[in-house]
Amino acid sequence: MIYILTGGPATGKGTRSDILANALNIPHISTGDILRDASKTNKEIAEKLSKGELISDEIITDLLKERIIKEDCKKGFVLDGYPRTLAQIHLLNELLDSLGRKITRVIELTAPDELVYRRILERRKCAKCGRVYGIDFPPKVKDICDDCGQKLETRIDDTKKTLKARIETYKKNAGPILDYYKKAGLLKTVDSSGHPERIVEEVNED
Ligand code: AMP
Repeated sequence: MIYILTGGPATGKGTRSDILANALNIPHISTGDILRDASKTNKEIAEKLSKGELISDEIITDLLKERIIKEDCKKGFVLDGYPRTLAQIHLLNELLDSLGRKITRVIELTAPDELVYRRILERRKCAKCGRVYGIDFPPKVKDICDDCGQKLETRIDDTKKTLKARIETYKKNAGPILDYYKKAGLLKTVDSSGHPERIVEEVNED
């Protein structure tokens, strides 16, 4: 069971990947999260993230490989944020072939630009437990995590300026990726303006 969730920034990939992964009892792997983590010790990655630029295909694919060969990915995983370039499609195919695994479905999430901006500017994350809050799931107390009482933080790349670059980067690269998966009969497009919980049924609808 390998689901790939793709879509521009703040189209709800993270929230829906979490919901789907929990429902299927498999891990949610976000390459954005992996890179934000790596950026704490790697200046080059931190700089690219803050500019909304893509990290090199080789670096991100190596980090992804390290993650998906772990025991908890045996039954499957929900992949969010990868592949983002044509080269990554082929690197992923090679990686999955070498592990004898296949993609179950690729879900493209879409959302109107106005909703994307609102989601980004209101998104907060708990630095301690990683829980993400936003317009669909606000915290009970403003800027405080419901679970551990920590102050919530804004992601380093969630600024108006970075968002514009991230949307442009996505639009520049998305077409050929979506075409590829459409031709492979794996693509399903889902409008993410609706309730996030619906993703569990949507992934299996025609
Ligand atoms: P995301 O959390 O998926 O919106 O990703 C945040 C940022 O991480 C992106 O704007 C890129 O700078 C970087 N990133 C995430 N996934 C990839 C990837 N597959 N390839 C290259 N860069 C990535």
